[in-house]
Formats: sequence, structure tokens, C-alpha cells
Amino acid sequence: MGLIRLIILGIVIYLVWQLIRRWQNKPANRVAQTERKRIDGSMVRCDHCGLFIPKEEAIQANGRQYCSEAHRLADGKDQ
Ligand SMILES: [Zn+2]
Repeated sequence: MGLIRLIILGIVIYLVWQLIRRWQNKPANRVAQTERKRIDGSMVRCDHCGLFIPKEEAIQANGRQYCSEAHRLADGKDQ
């Protein structure tokens, strides 16, 4: 009985320790990485209004990039 308790206690301590490590390390690093990616990740210019937006948020159409669906449509009308 004493040994089983000791093993369970060990597992609980291990899990708590893992949880604490995860809280301390990962969220902050992930945010930092995302932020860094966003900063030196490629920015593209909206072909309609000239606004700079992260490439992954840009709307691509006919080899051009737009900041929003509205500008994609507006630019399409001009041509
Ligand atoms: Zn735009």
C-alpha cells in the first residue's frame, strides 16, 4: 500500500512539474516566435490602398495582393 501511494505521488509530482515547465516555457516562446515571424516575415503592400499587411493575411488575386476582400473587388472594378 505504501509503495503504491509513493508511485502515485511520484506520478502526480511528475505531471505537476511538466505542467509548470510548460507554463513557464512554451507560451512565452510561442508568442515571441509568432511576434518575430510577424516582424521579419514578409509584409506585402495592398495593391489598392498601399497598406502593408502580413503576407499570410493578404488576399491574393491575379498575382496581386489586397488587404481586404473589399479592396480586391474595388481593384477588379477599376480594370
Ligand atoms: Zn487595401
